[in-house]
Amino acid sequence: MHFGGEAIYLTIQRLLTALAHGASVVGKSTLLAMTEYFKSMNEHSLKKTLSKLNIDGLRYFDSIGSTNDEALAWAAAGAPDLSIVIADEQTNGRGRLDRKWFTPKGSGLAFSLVLRPTATLRPHLSRTVGLAALSIAESCSGLGLSARIKWPNDILLNGKKAAGILIETVWSGDDVDSLVIGMGINVHKESVPPAELLQFPATSLEDELEKEAPSRGEILFSVLNAFVRWRELMATDELIHAWEEMLAFRGRQVQVQTGGDSSIIGELLGLESDGSLRLRDANDKSVIIRFGDVSLRPGA
Ligand code: ADP
Repeated sequence: MHFGGEAIYLTIQRLLTALAHGASVVGKSTLLAMTEYFKSMNEHSLKKTLSKLNIDGLRYFDSIGSTNDEALAWAAAGAPDLSIVIADEQTNGRGRLDRKWFTPKGSGLAFSLVLRPTATLRPHLSRTVGLAALSIAESCSGLGLSARIKWPNDILLNGKKAAGILIETVWSGDDVDSLVIGMGINVHKESVPPAELLQFPATSLEDELEKEAPSRGEILFSVLNAFVRWRELMATDELIHAWEEMLAFRGRQVQVQTGGDSSIIGELLGLESDGSLRLRDANDKSVIIRFGDVSLRPGA
């Protein structure tokens, strides 16, 4: 159900009337509607949430093709640092290599942040995916969930994918003008796509918590709060260490698809300082990987 302004008004009206008549028990439909309201996202409450983080660049959409597309256009037109595009529903969300990311209405978080790099951050932009992944993973840990980062851009809960990240660049000649960091997070159960649409099992925060998840606004605040904090440390070893600590499959034998039919097999050791993945192959040699899809080696 879409819960717009009029519906909110009617529900509050119903609740007040019931209370004015001395009701100690409120009707189930009113309670359901109130729950829907607190689960819903709206521009007003998002603005309030973001103002606590001193973020004032916001574009909110009930439905959008891709928040990254909107943020890329906005960044190219001069969006300030940390501007955010967020949508209740994303109909054409993208992953890497033109894979699809699904965000059905009312259930997940789909947003894109514009990052304008300072001179200090410029040499470390390849760490941006780690910054984003760590922010999501840490927010999940804050809820008592054990999150792992499947290098480079997925967050796993209980071995299943609960969030994905897509980073795109706005160029100014040969220089990076800005980066757009798209994040998709499965919050409520309804955000998990049907298995036949997926190559890898998926889950949501709510499924893993086994109780009602905090609202999407609260999760957004927690992720952005971690993001702003970790960004201050982006040029330090601390970021690489924290990111490495959260990596999935460390010390395990993995297979990394590196494009086409090529793949590399080895023990997942950790990260290089630029965020590349380091494996040890069967000949005991260190192998550095900059792009790929990691999976546990069958039988490992
Ligand atoms: P990866 O690069 O890790 O393959 P992407 O981050 O590019 O993944 O996201 C695209 C993939 O994620 C799709 O191929 C699809 O299988 C899967 N996917 C799409 N939507 C969701 C979702 N809401 N939750 C979990 N997985 C999803």
